[in-house]
Amino acid sequence: MKLSSLELTYLRGVGTARAELLKKELQIFNQEQMLYYFPYKYIDRSRIYKISELNANMPYVQVSGRIISFKIIGEGRAKRLSAGFTDGSGLLELVWFKGLKYTQDRYKLNQEYLVFGRPSQYGTRLSIAHPDIDPLNEQSLAFTRGLQAFYNTTERMKSSFMNSKAIQKIQISLFQSLTAPIPETLPGFLLEKLRLMSLDKSLREVHFPSDNKSLEKARYRLKFEELFYLQLHILRYARKRDKKFKGYPFTRIGDYFNTFYHKYLPFELTDAQKRVLKEIRINVGGQSQMNRLLQGDVGSGKTLVALMSMLMAADNGYQACMMAPTEILANQHYATLCGLLGDMPLKVALLTGSTRKKEREILHRELVSGEIHFLVGTHALIEDTVQFSNLGLVIIDEQHRFGVVQRSKLWTKNTMPPHVLVMTATPIPRTLAMTVYGDLEVSVIDELPPGRKPVQTLHRYDNKLAALYAFMRKELKAGRQIYVVYPLIEESEKMDYKNLQDGYQHICEAFPGIKVGMVHGKMKSADKDEQMLRFVKGETRILVATTVIEVGVDVSNASMMLIQNAERFGLSQLHQLRGRVGRGADQSYCVLLTSYKLSDEGRKRIEIMVSSNDGFEIAEADLKMRGPGDLEGLQQSGVPFDLKIADLGKDVQILEYARQIAGECLEKDPDLSLPENALMAEELKKRYGKKINWGAIS
Ligand code: ADP
Ligand code: MG
Repeated sequence: MKLSSLELTYLRGVGTARAELLKKELQIFNQEQMLYYFPYKYIDRSRIYKISELNANMPYVQVSGRIISFKIIGEGRAKRLSAGFTDGSGLLELVWFKGLKYTQDRYKLNQEYLVFGRPSQYGTRLSIAHPDIDPLNEQSLAFTRGLQAFYNTTERMKSSFMNSKAIQKIQISLFQSLTAPIPETLPGFLLEKLRLMSLDKSLREVHFPSDNKSLEKARYRLKFEELFYLQLHILRYARKRDKKFKGYPFTRIGDYFNTFYHKYLPFELTDAQKRVLKEIRINVGGQSQMNRLLQGDVGSGKTLVALMSMLMAADNGYQACMMAPTEILANQHYATLCGLLGDMPLKVALLTGSTRKKEREILHRELVSGEIHFLVGTHALIEDTVQFSNLGLVIIDEQHRFGVVQRSKLWTKNTMPPHVLVMTATPIPRTLAMTVYGDLEVSVIDELPPGRKPVQTLHRYDNKLAALYAFMRKELKAGRQIYVVYPLIEESEKMDYKNLQDGYQHICEAFPGIKVGMVHGKMKSADKDEQMLRFVKGETRILVATTVIEVGVDVSNASMMLIQNAERFGLSQLHQLRGRVGRGADQSYCVLLTSYKLSDEGRKRIEIMVSSNDGFEIAEADLKMRGPGDLEGLQQSGVPFDLKIADLGKDVQILEYARQIAGECLEKDPDLSLPENALMAEELKKRYGKKINWGAIS
């Protein structure tokens, strides 16, 4: 009988109610899924410390002793329950911020308890907040032997007494009910070659570690397997795609490119731009379709690289299009391209939601006839009515704003899919790029054009506005412009709009005689554009805005940005926003305003922003803090991020290794049809059989 078809209720200690809870809360439907519900941490409870030995640098520790006093301290939100705890060697404070009454009723003075938690220091006091407490008896001591696994459970489960310990007991009865070893899922030759622990042993060790070393080996094996099959899945599709799509080779560099380069280009390309252009040229000149991600920090000059790639298309008789996520941005790209191309004999057209019907008809005709060389636009480009004569290159700006399905539609605009270049200023750490995009090639512009002064980022508390306003007045006097950004989070949208409106009023009053504009997402597109345009032209000097300004808009005279409630923004978002200033030669400033109350995470984000201007560094930090599932844009990527044990932020080396091994396997046996790979093929099908690989169609 397969574990995947064994119901949870067959296990001792799991009745229908518990089985229901496990289904609803953790999506665990059968015994196999239970087995793959891994602990999120382990704690060494092999030792009971003396209180006198403790210090605040220690990880989790365990002590035994008695509670000798209870005290409620503080008022309102700072209210807490403090208990004095001693084992004779010293005094330890136990603290609770929640469930004060419940806790005080539950634990008795002068009884022996086993206390477990992470010590921290307040002044001279050593304390443990929200400790695990068990009465000291044989049963609790039995738990204290060796490494103990901890499982996540939800609030609802906890209120039905389904805590970590309950899960552990279910795991115990599951293993006791097994009559044979758990069947292996990696082929023997891999186990041997990579010296991996067997699946059966790994699963036992991961739930009930015998020691640190075996636990590490077990976790390594399980992580490797997970990443191996993920890579195998992605690489297999990528290989198929490469074979299928030959692409249109751009074999020559011709007049358009050369004329532009020698006569029109207003500045020297940066070395990074040159390198990336070379990578692109080799790629589009080759035998298969280009599928490339261009990563470059805000302001690194991606647009120019895009334009020069479009010139390569034109030189080879192909059309090119560039798609931007917003109308403002599409307009701006259109203006930039027209400006750079000057009087070169190339026709550029713009297509957005507000293109009139009449113009649209002409445009459609000129696209089909091939009169138009370059088309810039919003997702209006995707519509089926938009057909080309010979589309050879698609450029997608700020790619994370587009769903994958939308993107893939551009593939069908010619008989074979055109070359694709997706550009992003939200750098995706390499590990993720590898995972999300399969074998999408990655180019990086890691250098800003010369003469830029890095934006100076400051953190200020929002009760220090007066000094800040004085500074703003100075900047305004010097002729500069300023953004004031408010958060807009869906869940609290109403409140946020109110804050924005209030903020606008407030700024108008604080800066009499200065014209202030406002943009936000609820405005009509035309009004939004008008407001943006007035700011671009310098008619308004301060722009109060939500994150609608996050993407791409270029106002080089804006030298300062004030971000309200900065703690409510994500790291990538803050970095994007900050990229709106520092685009001219002047020193620019980004001020992150927060209240005094900051969560640890919020504070950390602010600290990272203040200390780094490097988009890649920030993206890595973001990945580490939030995990890949939360990274902007990746939800749409369709890649399965429900990894059970591997962590894309941390297990980089295992990922790279798994990818290499998966590549080698496919090199030898692309279809996994050799007998020795039968197990692999079966497991791959089980894991990814029904999933579409979106990574392969970026
Ligand atoms: P992003 O990568 O954020 O899209 P842009 O392409 O908008 O950046 O470029 C930012 C600014 O830098 C633009 O005003 C552009 O004209 C300018 N720029 C681009 N490349 C260079 C270069 N090599 N030297 C000087 N300025 C450049
Ligand atoms: Mg840009």
